[in-house]
This record gives sequence, structure tokens and C-alpha cells, in this order.
Amino acid sequence: MMTLSNSLAHADVAHQLHPFTDARAFEQNGPLIIDHGQGIHVFDSTGKKYIEGMAGLWSVAVGFNEPRLAEAAYKQFQKLPYYHTFSAKSHEPSIKLSEKLAEMAPEGLNHVLYCSSGSEGNDTVVKLVWYYNNALGRREKKKFLARTNAYHGITMASGSLTGIAVDHKDFDLPILPVIHLTCPHFYREGTAGETEEQFTARLLKELEDTIAREGADTIAAFIGEPVMGAGGVLVPPKGYWESVEAICRKNDILIVADEVINGFGRLGTTFGAAKMGFTPDIMTVSKQITSSYMPLAAIVFSDAIYEAVADNSHKIGAFAHGFTAAGHPVATAVALENIAIIEERDLVGNAARLEAPFQSGLRAFADKPLVGEVRGVGLMAAVELVADKATKAKFSKSGQVGQIANRIAHEEGLILRAIGDTLALCPPLIVTEADVAEILRIMGVVLDRTAKEVAELGIA
Ligand code: PMP
Repeated sequence: MMTLSNSLAHADVAHQLHPFTDARAFEQNGPLIIDHGQGIHVFDSTGKKYIEGMAGLWSVAVGFNEPRLAEAAYKQFQKLPYYHTFSAKSHEPSIKLSEKLAEMAPEGLNHVLYCSSGSEGNDTVVKLVWYYNNALGRREKKKFLARTNAYHGITMASGSLTGIAVDHKDFDLPILPVIHLTCPHFYREGTAGETEEQFTARLLKELEDTIAREGADTIAAFIGEPVMGAGGVLVPPKGYWESVEAICRKNDILIVADEVINGFGRLGTTFGAAKMGFTPDIMTVSKQITSSYMPLAAIVFSDAIYEAVADNSHKIGAFAHGFTAAGHPVATAVALENIAIIEERDLVGNAARLEAPFQSGLRAFADKPLVGEVRGVGLMAAVELVADKATKAKFSKSGQVGQIANRIAHEEGLILRAIGDTLALCPPLIVTEADVAEILRIMGVVLDRTAKEVAELGIA
């Protein structure tokens, strides 16, 4: 436990309410204050060095001290630190980034709308989709299909799309017409005796039955992370996304790929949808677009949506949506430089090349005590810890063992993320093979020490 010996920690406890933190426990333990970063490492205020095994919040592709991003920001700050994009005003960085995103996106997705966070992005997706359907006179076609354990953000609409119970509890969410379908995670959602193929068929039937029950003319869109992140790195079974796409197309339901984590190389492809075998109508991107050096999100959407939206804006007199910081010149300038670095250093290829050692190295831990499932794609992965490997029984107090592992990882110099009792890893895309080996070595130690401590404490 950290003692609150330093004044920064005291001030933090006194004044800052931290996201996704138990405030009372925080009063006792205080913060881990990160002071500076270098490559894949960050250093805390005592000088201790950590591998940032989560790339911050799944987001720092190019590492923690990329001078080219600092220079790109500084140059733009000097030239034009702020301008907006309302009322036909524009500026070069937002124009160039839009052109670049259209070039990178699947064919037919040529239009971009900006905001500053993934949550705002998915809120805007809801508004864009509703506006689109209203423009087409389909005023009933408004419901969203999402999945349990999905994470799409935390604002009113995006938080409603999110399918994680604790994110709804006591916030009076969801407030949208959203239907959460079964999460495509065979290990947890598959029933006894069911094969993975049968499981997939059951989920697809659930989708078809839901559409039949609700009526396709009431369902606007299906939103999903190609590979789910914050829900615990949940990888859908083979064929799942292709079939979801086919069912949605048959029923004229838009497909929204939430690429906020997957986008810009995380899965070893530029966007996650390609890796999972489907083509969306809309993508939400954020995080790795700027390596999170600046807040930025973009919604990249199809020509068909644009045409209807443009017509309607003409009829009404304006597309009456936008944020003060939409397409912020410094954020978009940093994004352009960040994407240039990703391309020049072939970081997408790096993720694809390191997928095998990273994923197979982690899967080698499957035989260790407490390890229920190891899963992941590209450079994102998770190790789920369980009370009983044979029955997959969870620990009676969810998250307790995850916190033990989290503390031990910190002691061993690795930042990971405990999602309940699942340990997530998502290192910066600049990792080398040697870095991956070091992450795996530390993970082995973390898992062994956690199992020992859990046994000593008699946790079940
Ligand atoms: N979508 C996904 C898939 C995410 O992982 C996140 C953030 N973890 C969001 C949306 C929300 O992004 P933000 O935190 O920037 O609002």
C-alpha cells in the first residue's frame, strides 16, 4: 500500500475524482503518479520504471516520447493553434486528415466527422444514424443492436450502447432504444456440450430472431468492436462477423465498427474489421489515431449515408451538429504525423509479425494454476484467472485476484489492466521481439506469484 507521503498524492486524494476507481480505496492507497515516459516505458514519481503493457488506455501506438509528435503539435500551435470547422470554415490539418482517413478506410467510406473522444464519437454515430434514417423518411428505424460486454464509451448514448453492467449501474443507463445481444465469447457464453460452431449458430439465430421480433424497420444499426477490448479482450468465433454482416445487409441494418481500440494496427491490420472479415458502413476511430497525444476521434462513413445527410442538411439549412474542438488543428496535425510514423515504421506489419510470439507465448501460460483462458489477436490479449480451471468457476469476490495480480505486476515493473480477474495486455505498437519476450517473462512471474499468494490467502 502506498503511503500518502508526498504532497501531490495528498492533493490528488483531496481534489480529484478518478475514473474507474474505488474512491474510498483510493483515499487509503493514493495514486500511482506517472511522471514521464520513454519508448514503451513510463516512470513513476519515485523513478521506478515500468513497461506500459497497456499502451496507456490501449492507445499509445508510437510510445511515450515521440519527438515528431511534439514537433508537429508545436509547429501547429505556432501557426494556427485553434480554429473551428463550423459554417464552412476549414483548415489544412483537418482537410488532409480527412483525405488520409478516406484513403485508409474500406472502399466507399469517404466522409469524416470529428470530435474529441471515442464516447463523443459513438454518441455522434447514434445521431448521424438517426438523422440519416429521418432523412430517408424512416422515422421508426432507430434501435441499435449491441452486445453484452461491449464498451462503446461512457456518455449518455455511447454509455447506453456499452453492455457492461457496472457502467450502467446508478447512472440510470441505458437511455437509448438498444438491445444487447449475447457477447460472442465462447469460453464464458458457450453452454455445456456446445461446440464453437453451434455457439456461433445460436448467436446468429438470436440476431435473426431479434430482428424478426422487433421488425427490421425499427432497427437502425448493429454496433460492435471487431475484437472487444474493455469487456475483457473477447475474440469472436470464426465466421461470426461475416454472418452478422450478411444478416444485417439482408435487413438493411447499418454496421458500425467501433475501431477505437482495434484501429491503426492493433490487430495487425490497419482496421480490425478487415481482420475479422467484414466491411462496415461507419467506423469510429480514436485513441491510436494520435497515439492519444491529443484528444481526437473521427467517424468515417459511407457515401450512401453522406448523400442522404447532405440532402437533408440542404433542406434544413445546415447539418446542425458539431463540437467547438471538432477537427482541432493541433489534434489533426498530430494525427497526420502519427499516421505517417505508423506507415514509415510499418507498425501495422510489426503487430502482424509479433502476433505469433506474443500470442503463443501467452498461450504457453494456459497450464499455470488459475489460468482459465488465454485469448487475443494481434497485439492485444488477456489472461482470465479462475477459481477452478476445470469448471471455469469464477472467484467468489470478483476482482480481488485481479487486483492482487495488478499489484504484483506493478512490483515487477509491468503495467497491465485487471478487468475483474482478467489481465489485459495491449503494448505499444513499437514493441520489439525482445520487448515481447520481456513482457512474457514478467507475466510468467506475475502469474506464479499471484497463484502463490492466492493459495496462501486461501482465496477461492
Ligand atoms: N469505444 C471503444 C471500443 C473503447 O475502447 C473506448 C475507450 N476505451 C471508447 C469507445 C470510448 O472512448 P473514450 O474513452 O475516448 O471516450
